[in-house]
Amino acid sequence: MNALKIKLLGTGTSQGVPVIACECEVCSSNDPKDYRTRTAALFQTNQLNIAIDAGPDFRTQMLQAKVKHLDALLLTHEHMDHLAGLDDIRAFNFAAKAPLKVYAEKRVISRLLVQFDYAFAENPYPGVPKIELVEIDTNPFYINDLKVTPIRVLHHKLPVLGFRLGNISYVTDVNFIALEELEKIRGSEILVLSALHHKPHISHYNLEQALEVIATLNCKKNYITHMSHYMGLHQVVQKSLPENVWLGYDGLCIPQTVNT
Ligand SMILES: [Zn+2]
Ligand SMILES: [Zn+2]
Ligand SMILES: [Zn+2]
Repeated sequence: MNALKIKLLGTGTSQGVPVIACECEVCSSNDPKDYRTRTAALFQTNQLNIAIDAGPDFRTQMLQAKVKHLDALLLTHEHMDHLAGLDDIRAFNFAAKAPLKVYAEKRVISRLLVQFDYAFAENPYPGVPKIELVEIDTNPFYINDLKVTPIRVLHHKLPVLGFRLGNISYVTDVNFIALEELEKIRGSEILVLSALHHKPHISHYNLEQALEVIATLNCKKNYITHMSHYMGLHQVVQKSLPENVWLGYDGLCIPQTVNT
């Protein structure tokens, strides 16, 4: 496989950081690493750009990352912080003169058909986003020659998909991973895993729980994403972490060094 890397386009929870009208020290921080857009990522090979989720910051993230073409968009689940920017795929439609392949499971597709009904109308208004839906389940599939392994996790009661491409696993919006799904992640060189903040939460791992999962799997490099302002200042929290764990930040690019 040619060089595979993952770029963390956004690493914030649903409200982003800073939070509107909040004056806490994290929201007031001048450190760019404390500025977190909504969680999203981009897998890149020499040929392919595969985006994971299209939240409300999708446009800004694509501009920041200077993405010129998208080959696929994979959706983890239907919460709006992962979906609200879908209309902005139009720019890629115009550039490629083609629909964008959007991979999602059946339940998420049902949601898309309601939320973005105008894009699926029989005689759509000119200029609507052009989406080619590809229904997936937990079975592995291929994008060109790149194998994608979905990882089933739970986000409170909501089943969500994480994805493993090559030796990189990406799992967000999770507070439970069954043993057999952990096995799909095991052996990854890089794991990106979400943790909201320090206190327990009904639908997200807190930092302590995420660190337990990370310790169980013992991947070489581990990165935290989907953080709220309650996580604390990046520089301070980073010092408290094990040596193979880092807080993610917007724009961080992590190359796979061990090829599959
Ligand atoms: Zn989320
Ligand atoms: Zn705040
Ligand atoms: Zn969610």
